[in-house]
Amino acid sequence: MIRVALIGGGITGLSAAYYLERDYPGVEIDLFEADKELGGRIRTDTSHNLIIEGGPDSFLATKPELVELCEQVGLGPHLIGTNPQVRGAYIFWKNQHYQIPEGIQTGVPTKAKPVLTSPLLSVAGKTALLKDFLVRKGPDGDQSLGYFLRRHFGNEIVDRLAAPMLSGIFAGDIDQMSLKATFPHLLTAEQRARSVYLGSKRRKPPAPNVFVQRYHSVFVSVDRGLQEMIVQIAKNLHHTRFFLSTAVERIEPETEGRWAVSSSSHSGVYDAVLVTTPAYVSARILPFLSLQARDILQHIPYADLAVVGAAYDPADIPIKTDKTGFLVPKHSGLHMTAVTWVSSKWHYPHVDPLFVLRAFYGRFGENILEYDDDALISLFRKELEQTMYVKASPKYLRVFRIPQGMPQYVVGHLDRIAKLERELEPFRHLFVAGAFEGGVGMPDRVKQARKTVQRMAQELELTRSEVRSETFT
Ligand SMILES: Cc1cc2nc3c(=O)[nH]c(=O)nc-3n(C[C@H](O)[C@H](O)[C@H](O)COP(=O)(O)OP(=O)(O)OC[C@H]3O[C@@H](n4cnc5c(N)ncnc54)[C@H](O)[C@@H]3O)c2cc1C
Repeated sequence: MIRVALIGGGITGLSAAYYLERDYPGVEIDLFEADKELGGRIRTDTSHNLIIEGGPDSFLATKPELVELCEQVGLGPHLIGTNPQVRGAYIFWKNQHYQIPEGIQTGVPTKAKPVLTSPLLSVAGKTALLKDFLVRKGPDGDQSLGYFLRRHFGNEIVDRLAAPMLSGIFAGDIDQMSLKATFPHLLTAEQRARSVYLGSKRRKPPAPNVFVQRYHSVFVSVDRGLQEMIVQIAKNLHHTRFFLSTAVERIEPETEGRWAVSSSSHSGVYDAVLVTTPAYVSARILPFLSLQARDILQHIPYADLAVVGAAYDPADIPIKTDKTGFLVPKHSGLHMTAVTWVSSKWHYPHVDPLFVLRAFYGRFGENILEYDDDALISLFRKELEQTMYVKASPKYLRVFRIPQGMPQYVVGHLDRIAKLERELEPFRHLFVAGAFEGGVGMPDRVKQARKTVQRMAQELELTRSEVRSETFT
């Protein structure tokens, strides 16, 4: 019997367990999770007959991996798209909500008129857009996303529009984020046409996607909250033993390519190990790795985050909430980075008719968690009054603190990851994965888990179950 240890019970670890069980019957799996619950960054508060997500609220249907997994664990009838009546978000700038001009794709204008007529940009800001037709082709090596976009479009559109749109996904600083590791197609557009505007326009539109059509939306969620996805994946695991509240302390090589995994309460020897913990944890629990490998893992930076979820009497919301919410540029003087109007964005069935919103805090380099909960709540209420004129007290409020919540792909990230992979090569049957490489989005996590399981199975010479895996290519 082959025994595999999976370290970390977030979406990466859980989907790895799912594919191992489904495709390679006969493998025994032990899954170690430090927390008392599975899910990692995925947390849903369903108390008070509301759905308030403490981490992600949805995933891309254009990347099929997670939609497929949800359907396979029986969640198909519970997948929902965003409210079709509500499209796009506002930008909050100088005490006003501005529409994001039509045609902005990954921070780059692909239509001239909407951006040239947008009141969000000054005449100087609009004139600076012409730089895109004049600048020389830049270096094809890695550079910061901010440097790249500023060179093409000037500072104003980057600070007011592109940065809040793009850095929001990573809670990152656009002037430190790696272009190649985050939005490499922008570099391709430049290399293709010199002008990023023209290069982006020439990009082929994506083929119609079956899941986007099925759920009528690019973003998909679960009608009972995303934690239900974790529950259902776990329910479908019949050969996995869960060790919750069990932080792995050390993993060490044993003889014959086997691995010893130890925690304070449980230890075992395994034929293979997949580590899906955050990079700084992996550096600690893999002490035998070379200094260089541990150094790379340890120095992948993470941003501290906080999410404040609150529910109000709808009568207490004095402004129009006809979009998914608003983004807040860094130079606005506010700490909040974005607010999602949950009740506008999603029509969750069977929830109380309160108006739910979520405010996001934490920019890379800012120590937002120095605020205790009371200070964060005061900040939230002050900033909600400034941005939405909400004076009333919420009927329910919850603070989610997420220390080292989001890995940062800073300039040079891909080179460091390539070095790390070379350092890991000699260790057969040991696999190190996680959101610090291959994309932070949940579908990216599932894709990485599936691929890693395939590599593991090859190394262990496991036989694939043809019948159960026939839906996968
Ligand atoms: C606020 C926020 C909003 C987001 N929004 C979206 C979104 O809308 N859409 C989207 O697709 N993605 C979103 N993401 C990103 C996405 O949620 C994460 O990238 C993804 O959930 C990470 O999954 P993971 O399993 O790789 O890591 P994690 O979820 O971090 O799981 C790692 C697990 O390892 C455990 N662990 C740590 N140390 C040990 C140890 N020593 N032993 C055993 N276990 C250990 C942890 O407790 C954790 O459960 C968001 C993230 C955040 C923080």
